[in-house]
Amino acid sequence: MIDHRRLGRELELFVSDPLAGAGLPIWLPAGAAARHAVEEYVRDLERRAGYRHVYSPPLGKRELFELSGHLGYFADDMFPPMRLSADDEFVLRPALCPHHALVFRARGRSYRELPLRIAELGGMYRAERSGVLGGLSRVRAISLNDAHNFCALDQVGDEVREILRLIREAHAALGVRPAGFRLSLRGPGEKYVGDDAAWARAEDLLRAALDGVDFTEAPGEAAFYGPKIDIQIVDAAGRESTISTIQLDFDKPEKFDLSYTDADGSRRRPVLVHRSLVGSMERLFAYLIEVHAGAFPAWYAPVQLVLLPVDQGQVEPAVDLVRRAEAAGLRAEVDVAGSLGARIRGAARRRVPYVGVVGPREAAGGAVSLRLCDGRALAPMPVADALGLIGKVVAGRSAGLLSAD
Ligand SMILES: [Zn+2]
Repeated sequence: MIDHRRLGRELELFVSDPLAGAGLPIWLPAGAAARHAVEEYVRDLERRAGYRHVYSPPLGKRELFELSGHLGYFADDMFPPMRLSADDEFVLRPALCPHHALVFRARGRSYRELPLRIAELGGMYRAERSGVLGGLSRVRAISLNDAHNFCALDQVGDEVREILRLIREAHAALGVRPAGFRLSLRGPGEKYVGDDAAWARAEDLLRAALDGVDFTEAPGEAAFYGPKIDIQIVDAAGRESTISTIQLDFDKPEKFDLSYTDADGSRRRPVLVHRSLVGSMERLFAYLIEVHAGAFPAWYAPVQLVLLPVDQGQVEPAVDLVRRAEAAGLRAEVDVAGSLGARIRGAARRRVPYVGVVGPREAAGGAVSLRLCDGRALAPMPVADALGLIGKVVAGRSAGLLSAD
């Protein structure tokens, strides 16, 4: 069975070292390169959709999380507070919303600014029990693709539909195949904040936004502050988890006393939409490693092109080609150690999408012979054409290896 922990080790994507701590994996250069490409893509997608990115610290004063309700409703999932002095306690944040509420509150806001979309790929922490931790799928240090969209009430429907569109676009580019949409509602025996009328209104808004979408209802799966739309995935072992989420919150704007000035000069409370297009980088990659069996689409493959000189005489042209590929924005390497066959097998084991063989004839003619990781071999072509071919697939974030695929 495909297991992202085994592939993660074999492909040197990440390592879990007991000395660092369970649930605290370290991303190795190959994993970090793939993650970096995905992060850049998501940030760009958000920027083009009107999001504004911020940076905020992964820990904050205890009072911030008392105000947000996290210490009242969510303390069991949080690390215990760290005490510097009697009146100075800090907690590792379990969510980014409190900081983003402070971004909204940093100055007066006008209705003209809404929806105000504050995004961050930020760190947060969960005190998961060590028994449930494994690889990247359940971790204690989480890097979340997060945003908080502050809206007027009558903007919420359009905003949620637009978020659903962005989620579909991101899933298509990454190769995520959702297993289902879920409307997560309140259930008995759990702690929830806020009044019934606000919950009912939020549920109605989410149901309306799901018009035309196949979804199931899941009582008891709501956040403590509001109902949500969850998009589920199933991993190779058949376990279901949430990858994307859209949550409505009438409570935090109240708690943080957020307001904006409306067209008529009156002060109004915004509605807060918490959303994540692709979830945490950890859970996303646990899933992507398995769904692609380690062979990521070329645009986020850790190494996109490996150059193999046939013998010593072509090392220099191969190194030169790597430099040209890097200058064109590609991730490329040269491999000189061992027989050509062994090096071709090595590149296949590492799931490198393109292998460029440079023999005496190619070197003399300024050409390269490309082999694709699905086994296809292309006729020798000028170096510029090969780089153009790969560059086009990468820039188009295509799932195939040739732009015609
Ligand atoms: Zn949030």
